Amino acid sequence: MVIDTLRQGTILIVDDDPVIVQSLGRMLEGLGQIRFALSGSQAFKLIAEAPPDIILLDADMPGLSGYEVCRALKQSPDARDIPVIFITGHNDEAHELASLEAGAVDFIGKPPKPLLVQARVKAHLHLKLTTDALRRSANSDPLTGLANRRVFEQVLEREWDRARRTATPISLLMVDIDHFKRFNDSQGHPEGDRCLIQVAHLIQQLAKRPADQVARMGGEEFVVLLPETDQDGARHVAGRIVAGVEAMGLAHPASPVAEVTTVSVGAGSISRVPALDATGVHGEEAHGPMALIRTADKALYQAKAGGRNRFESARVDEAPRA
Ligand code: GH3
Ligand code: MG
Ligand code: MG
Repeated sequence: MVIDTLRQGTILIVDDDPVIVQSLGRMLEGLGQIRFALSGSQAFKLIAEAPPDIILLDADMPGLSGYEVCRALKQSPDARDIPVIFITGHNDEAHELASLEAGAVDFIGKPPKPLLVQARVKAHLHLKLTTDALRRSANSDPLTGLANRRVFEQVLEREWDRARRTATPISLLMVDIDHFKRFNDSQGHPEGDRCLIQVAHLIQQLAKRPADQVARMGGEEFVVLLPETDQDGARHVAGRIVAGVEAMGLAHPASPVAEVTTVSVGAGSISRVPALDATGVHGEEAHGPMALIRTADKALYQAKAGGRNRFESARVDEAPRA
């Protein structure tokens, strides 16, 4: 597995005493980008704006105590993976235990000793950045940087369930580059890879809503999940992708379809996800999210058979419509 180089981390120091904040800031110079907050509520604001990679948190503060702040962070899906190191004047077992129970990874006594603070922050920060990098590389396709199939299947499962609960439509686009084998054969694999990257980035740009999820399924095949989108919406995005790829004008002289690289798109949509059966599972395989993939696949096949550089769409429970 390829791990990207570790980025520089951000360190958030939270203490109501500006003198402590300043002295910790000096000790940690060079280890990361340093930000600070003088209260728990100020810390929450900063964390919501841009989550730091590690937090040094004073246990005793007026208003929200460090323990309360830490417990709240550990409940939040967005903040729970940020390591928290407590700073406290009470260097006894009970306080140390209370910090760990609140979810802290470590503990620094007051007054803070520079070498110990540096060593602890360095170790926890390195671990956090390494874990982040591993998670990124496990979730993304190394060539295009898009989400990979594994992530896509998780998102599809989650959005399918959401569509069922909220009774909203959901659509899926299958995008496949036309005659890509000929592209590789005539222009070489490295050029083929560059083409894949450009098509991937364009699709990413054209799937505009925050909930839209683009992924590389493998080879020269991409998939776009469009939550809260009906068949008309799916056809709209599909048309935009077909036209957008052609307009990029990536030369493909070996293509019998056009002089440039083109894609075919199959759109699958469902207006109402069926209810779960009594056992709480998707019941018939036909009622699960795979039905959406199969429908989009069939529509893609039709777009290929119909001449390529076009899209076809279908509803899960209906015949394809051009
Ligand atoms: P169609 O229009 O029917 O989709 O024809 P096609 O040639 O695109 O389809 P086919 O599935 O026969 O071939 C897919 C080709 O995609 C095979 C291979 O040359 C190319 N390919 C798959 N993965 C990669 C990749 O990671 N990099 C490069 N450069 N090429 C790839
Ligand atoms: Mg193809
Ligand atoms: Mg293919």
